[in-house]
Amino acid sequence: MRILVTGGAGFIGSNFVHLLLDETDYDITTLDALTYAGSTDNLEGTLDNDRHEFVEGDIRDRDLVSELMADADVVVNFAAESHVDRSIDGAEPFVTTNVQGTQVLLDAALDADIDRFIQISTDEVYGEIEEGAFSEDDPLDARNPYSATKAGADLLARSYYTTHGLPVVITRSSNNFGPRQHSEKLIPKFLTNASEGKSLPVYGDGTNVREWIYVEDNCRALLTVLEEGKVGEVYNVGSGLEKQNIEVTKAIIEAVGASEDLIEFVEDRAGHDQRYALDTTKLEALGWEPQWSFEEGLDATVEYYLE
Ligand code: NAD
Repeated sequence: MRILVTGGAGFIGSNFVHLLLDETDYDITTLDALTYAGSTDNLEGTLDNDRHEFVEGDIRDRDLVSELMADADVVVNFAAESHVDRSIDGAEPFVTTNVQGTQVLLDAALDADIDRFIQISTDEVYGEIEEGAFSEDDPLDARNPYSATKAGADLLARSYYTTHGLPVVITRSSNNFGPRQHSEKLIPKFLTNASEGKSLPVYGDGTNVREWIYVEDNCRALLTVLEEGKVGEVYNVGSGLEKQNIEVTKAIIEAVGASEDLIEFVEDRAGHDQRYALDTTKLEALGWEPQWSFEEGLDATVEYYLE
């Protein structure tokens, strides 16, 4: 079986490629445009593997996508503009890659009669929740341009299932952390800053809550969904490990032995969602459960970045 992994030179995609090569016998084609967020460094150790082909290219390139899709049995679409702050500064690449790029992939998948299309969505499509946790049936209420484009892609993918019968499965995961994440994201940025004695800019009062999942747990969930998930369904992927941003910040400071004086509260992000949380009962019924505690995951992440 050949899996086309789009965005496989980014954070989660590259961890997924490593997992597939290490623990399955699937063949992989990685398609990645190598934007500022992607790097073949993340694929180190996989590029000379006979089971892996890396193609530098754009998911919006119809001809290239059709060509690659013709050889694939399954597609996992990670490719996206992924940073909320950048989407606030300018939404255009988010619309063209996240929505139009997904449409190009869906059309090509339909033409190629693909066996399965996994669309990687996010918990952010639900918007914020004060108490309790979102289930897959909750309405989408995306509140920033990034999550709005991800919600668009999510709905578009589902529409190809209901309209055309394309075998689509969607995952919506919470915040990932771990090796190979771009240094603009909270945990790598704060780890790097703290270890260099630079300030840690915490949005607002730092009480925003995120559910942190170690990237390997998410990748294993994706493999479960790929092999066991039901076509046409959505699966939440979360860990139950809820942390306020200020708690994460203090844990990072402690992990690198820095001073809390580095914490600097800065003006809150526009439209900043207060809390996300996911009900993962549906995914757990497929036999998956998270393996990593926040502390174990943070230790492994610290080790990776400080190296
Ligand atoms: P990332 O920014 O690290 O990686 C994105 C990858 O996509 C990069 O390698 C980039 O080069 C590539 N890419 C961007 N535009 C492209 C295009 N037009 N054509 C081909 N490749 C392109 O992102 P990530 O954190 O690894 O996220 C992967 C997916 O998971 C995204 O769809 C994101 O929305 C979703 N997600 C991420 C998180 C998280 O916590 N990181 C949580 C939930 C969902």
